Amino acid sequence: MIGFLRTPLIKRAAVPAPEPTVFDIDGRKVPLRFRRNAKARRLVLRLDIKNQGLVMTLPKRTGLSDALRFAESSRQWIVRTLSKQAPVAPVVDGAHMLYQGHLHCLHFSGGRRGVVTASDSILHIPGDAAHAPRRLRDYLKDQALKALSAASKKYALAMGTRYARISIRDQKSRWGSCSSGGVLSYSWRLILAPDFVLDYVAAHEVAHLIEMNHGPRFWRLVLTHCPHARHAKQWLKAHGKDVHRYF
Ligand SMILES: [Zn+2]
Repeated sequence: MIGFLRTPLIKRAAVPAPEPTVFDIDGRKVPLRFRRNAKARRLVLRLDIKNQGLVMTLPKRTGLSDALRFAESSRQWIVRTLSKQAPVAPVVDGAHMLYQGHLHCLHFSGGRRGVVTASDSILHIPGDAAHAPRRLRDYLKDQALKALSAASKKYALAMGTRYARISIRDQKSRWGSCSSGGVLSYSWRLILAPDFVLDYVAAHEVAHLIEMNHGPRFWRLVLTHCPHARHAKQWLKAHGKDVHRYF
């Protein structure tokens, strides 16, 4: 009876994930953190975009030594993947930021709080410099909502459909999505891309209200209403990661 009780207890005991560490790549210290996932069957290593490092998912009982051995055996992949990653772009006074497809200079103008404005390739952010990055992001999200609402409205009218509402998010993995309930979700970072790219993503998601797939009928619909779709897709493939470098 005791044995019967003891086994499930041992099985259930969660082993905490090892403490974060750094992985040395030719002198470059790459942060490496661990996540424990009881359902994971194998070790999985991926980029930790937020922390400019790596995150490894460990099955229930994998320990630090096995994890480090796995990182070591993945060294080539890590070097290759990190070299492809765009470096984080700082959001500071005088730095440059992509906005509507053009590089803008950030000007933290100080003084009294006022509205953020964009003119002549300069983004002016008045008020306390300490809050300027947050205020700039709020402004960009707001502009994204306005532009994506207008584009979605235009395509819904042209394609003869309607959506429930629009939500603006910060998803790393997708530019937009369309729920079965008709909610269109978009990444606010599309406002950093050229207008024709933002416009295409709206056409794509609105077309999903009619065709919930990526079949020939879906693409015919998109291309009929948005002839620059291919060009926009190419832009996203080539420059999409650039818009994730900020914040
Ligand atoms: Zn799609």
